Amino acid sequence: SKRLILVLGDQLTPTLSALREADKDRDIIVMAEVRDEGTYVRHHAKKIALILAAMRHFASDLRAEGWQVAYTTLDDPENTHAISKELLRRADEFGAEEVIATAPGEWRLRSLLDHTPIKVTQLPDDRFVASEDEFATWAKDRKSLRMEYFYREMRRKTGLLMDGDQPEGGKWNYDHDNRKPAQSDLFMPEPLHHQHDEIVTDVLDLVEREFPDTFGELRPFWFAATRAGAEAARDWFMAEALPKFGDYQDAMLRGEKFLYHSILSPYLNIGLLDPIDLCQRAEAEYRAGRAPLNAVEGYIRQIIGWREFIRGIYFLEGPDYPKRNALNANRDLPWFYWSGETDMACMKAAIDQTISDAYAHHIQRLMVTGNFALIAGLDPQQVHEWYLAVYADAFEWVESPNTVGMILFADGGVVGSKPYAASGAYINRMSDYCKSCTYSVSKKSGEGCCPFNPLYWDFLNRNRERFEGNPRMAQMYRTWDRMAEDKREASSDSAAAILAKLEAGERV
Ligand code: FAD
Ligand code: SF4
Repeated sequence: SKRLILVLGDQLTPTLSALREADKDRDIIVMAEVRDEGTYVRHHAKKIALILAAMRHFASDLRAEGWQVAYTTLDDPENTHAISKELLRRADEFGAEEVIATAPGEWRLRSLLDHTPIKVTQLPDDRFVASEDEFATWAKDRKSLRMEYFYREMRRKTGLLMDGDQPEGGKWNYDHDNRKPAQSDLFMPEPLHHQHDEIVTDVLDLVEREFPDTFGELRPFWFAATRAGAEAARDWFMAEALPKFGDYQDAMLRGEKFLYHSILSPYLNIGLLDPIDLCQRAEAEYRAGRAPLNAVEGYIRQIIGWREFIRGIYFLEGPDYPKRNALNANRDLPWFYWSGETDMACMKAAIDQTISDAYAHHIQRLMVTGNFALIAGLDPQQVHEWYLAVYADAFEWVESPNTVGMILFADGGVVGSKPYAASGAYINRMSDYCKSCTYSVSKKSGEGCCPFNPLYWDFLNRNRERFEGNPRMAQMYRTWDRMAEDKREASSDSAAAILAKLEAGERV
């Protein structure tokens, strides 16, 4: 009998497990633009447009290959606006009794499919280097999970940058070479801006009409929505940015939104690009002498190390993971995360480009907006919803361990062994933001001091019991304890004043 083959918006891969299982002559592919998925958080307009446009292109490619595709557009009057209802409606329409799906990258959707009143088979999503079972086996019996060891396994498994059974160049990790601050006179490559066809233009009009109040600027829309476009972006990265990717990976510059980052995560996460293919191409650049080892190793580590590790944690830890709050942080997310209305130059830069481009690079997410959320004690649930909404690459399996784990330590130390808390000095070292800031980064307390300074100490003091015994943090507590009494008091007073302003919704 006929079966329905479900393809979700982040499953746009021709070799998807559900499609491999399908029979072109008999089965019906179901794709649906449903409001439930578009609005459960306030997704960025560019993110919604990217996903819908890429879905429409994917459907049109499938049809061209002879598949029968039942596609529901957002404005279709028959649209039930929920995945499970769409499946039931299509099952009725085509007389199908069974659904084949590839397991979604989110607990919520897996459970939703489990509870849909029709037989649904969820096949493993094998577009990753490590399967969920493989990760669980690796994690079993380990006291703590560290990315570095997992990463080495993945290097061995894939053979990427290996020299026999040894790592290329003799070291597994060249991060040591990758912490250079960038200079503002560097010539930066500009990422490709993709041309629009009719499908994209239609989707942009649709998003404008249907999501008038959602977050972020829709236009100019410069993402690619096709596999060919994503591949052009990939080729651009390999040629233009990869050689310097390593050196300036942690740098931040005013007016430079992209530096030498790849801006490929949105395509990778919806299935337009393949992680192993990206790594093999990066390795080929190294072998051809066009990109140095520190850049290529660093890039490959982000993909087969961090990206896979993060996904492993999400599925290992279970559905409650995004709700954890180990440090009992409960302050509301300040409104300026949505509006960019803040005097902190670093925060403003990161948030403004998030509003305009649905993109900020890793160090901005981690050490600016993330660090602030940590040291100001913001509610992890609200911070999680923000990151999930505002970035074009955000899907819960990858976003939540980065947010709840890496930046907020709300998982109690599963992702990282210590919180990434930092004062303004770190931001000043890695960026040129402080020069143009209303606040003074060298001022530790009092009127006009950089808010990161007193909040940093306040964070350590609030969580003293938990972190004092951590050998990697003990030094900071000793520094605080040795500080003169009046300085400590001034710092605590400033922190209290800033937190009170945040709570009152005043401009900071
Ligand atoms: P590049 O700097 O070019 O890095 C190369 C690739 O490595 C990326 O494309 C990405 O696929 C991968 N990668 C690097 N770091 C990570 C990481 N920590 N976790 C997973 N993959 C990684 N990444 C997402 O893809 N989706 C998210 O929703 C997301 N949310 C994040 C939230 C927070 C709080 C933080 C700190 C990080 C988050 N990241 C997320 C990771 C990282 O910031 C982005 O992958 C990266 O900025 C994407 O831009 P890029 O493609 O230019 O990356
Ligand atoms: Fe950010 Fe502080 Fe520097 Fe201003 S002074 S840019 S708030 S780190």
